[in-house]
Amino acid sequence: MKHLAFSFFFFLTTQVLAQQAPLLPLVKSEIKGINIYGKTVDNQTRCQHWHSDLDVIAIKFKCCEKYYPCFSCHEEEADHKPQVWPKAEFDTKAILCGVCGSELTIKAYQASGNTCRNCTAAFNPGCSKHYHLYFETDTPNKSDL
Ligand SMILES: [Zn+2]
Ligand SMILES: [Zn+2]
Ligand SMILES: [Zn+2]
Repeated sequence: MKHLAFSFFFFLTTQVLAQQAPLLPLVKSEIKGINIYGKTVDNQTRCQHWHSDLDVIAIKFKCCEKYYPCFSCHEEEADHKPQVWPKAEFDTKAILCGVCGSELTIKAYQASGNTCRNCTAAFNPGCSKHYHLYFETDTPNKSDL
């Protein structure tokens, strides 16, 4: 009887663990001495939300000055509302290339043609659809925040 009860308990425990298992195992990420926060899964800034070949940049958030791979990472881990970078501060280095570890200003990133100037790594062009989550823009999306 005792053995049965234990087996049942073990079964329950493994079921619960299986359900909570993340898509990809989390990795503590640091690139050239810069910590990347959020749900990172490798050392090139990929995260559980965005992890294609091209997802190799992290964004420093104005609110906490910490690098996160994406908006969702910040949302799930930070204890505050995100702030976007105002246009007046677009010459701040707030983009990190996960491949070579160089930091780009927001201006340089937006003018980069989705290629790292330093190591020529390709960035995900789809990120531009989410600029309004990180940077001040003129598009109506801004009010969605
Ligand atoms: Zn923040
Ligand atoms: Zn993420
Ligand atoms: Zn690079």
